[in-house]
Amino acid sequence: MRVDARIIHVEIDGETIQCTPRGRLFKEETEDKPEGGEMKNPIAVGDQVSVGHDGNPPGVEAVLPRRNALVRVASSHDPRGQVLCANVDQLLVVGSLQEPRFSSNRTDRILSACHHANITTGLVLNKTDLDRDGSAEEIAATYRAAGMEVLLTSAKESSGLEAFAELLRGKTTVLYGASGGGKSTLINGIQPGLDLKTARISAHWNTGRHTTSYSQLHRVEAVDGWVVDTPGIRTFRLFGLNNLQLRETYPEFAAYADQCHFPNCAHDHEPDCAIFDAVEAGKIAPTRYASYVEILDELAPPPDDAGTVLPPEEAGFE
Ligand code: GDP
Ligand code: ZN
Repeated sequence: MRVDARIIHVEIDGETIQCTPRGRLFKEETEDKPEGGEMKNPIAVGDQVSVGHDGNPPGVEAVLPRRNALVRVASSHDPRGQVLCANVDQLLVVGSLQEPRFSSNRTDRILSACHHANITTGLVLNKTDLDRDGSAEEIAATYRAAGMEVLLTSAKESSGLEAFAELLRGKTTVLYGASGGGKSTLINGIQPGLDLKTARISAHWNTGRHTTSYSQLHRVEAVDGWVVDTPGIRTFRLFGLNNLQLRETYPEFAAYADQCHFPNCAHDHEPDCAIFDAVEAGKIAPTRYASYVEILDELAPPPDDAGTVLPPEEAGFE
């Protein structure tokens, strides 16, 4: 299935039909406030839906319960959640070592979001042919210490492509990474002819709208899998978690966290913080800690009255 604002392409028994979202769909979702707040889009690529055939075009009437959903803050002007995709098996960050340079901040944001959403992650470090200063091994070690599978590839030199194909085999995979990192080239390397870029352009012509934030499921026959491309995502702000929940999304903190002086330490320069000490001692990567502190600043604290049920007037109901 793929989604743009007005037309929803739904696959039924191998055939794709065009549907419209029913008004009810938007209303129900807004009233439910799922996953920690209001959503901008009630339906996303990867969703399973029920379709009513009594209209022309047919209408999407409901979204079936999701296995998982990747959600970000819609934009700097819109605090609602934006669901980027649902029901995926894994997300692979494709980070190039150079051109563009690897960004730990961009990487760590999406990894934390996936951790929170229960989506397995992996890291593909591409363009190893451009790695002149040996940073590939250092970056790989950082993310292996965070419990992740890391693969080194050069799509240009066709190295690591077999292992990349094995990562995708039989799964629905989100490919995430800065534009220019090599996502299209990698996919093309395992299935020549499947060009994510071509799909982006035809999508543009299809809808007649200038859109960059458009995602689609692509069948990758060669590995019996699917990939979701995520073009045009420049900023990923985490949605639906508070600043104390962020700690849990950094797996390499777990070994030290119970040695902090304050049992509820946010690891944000509190005295006697074992995480800070571990960074100083070279046991936790400084890049990971830097991204942690930056994301932490963007997240709200948990509500003071967490766990207290307010009387209806105070909770804002009439
Ligand atoms: P996407 O935006 O992530 O889909 O990136 P592309 O696949 O379009 O790649 C962007 C540019 O990087 C293209 O010019 C590719 O030829 C080039 N590129 C892709 N993989 C590699 C690689 O492993 N090494 C080098 N040197 N260039 C690559
Ligand atoms: Zn601490």
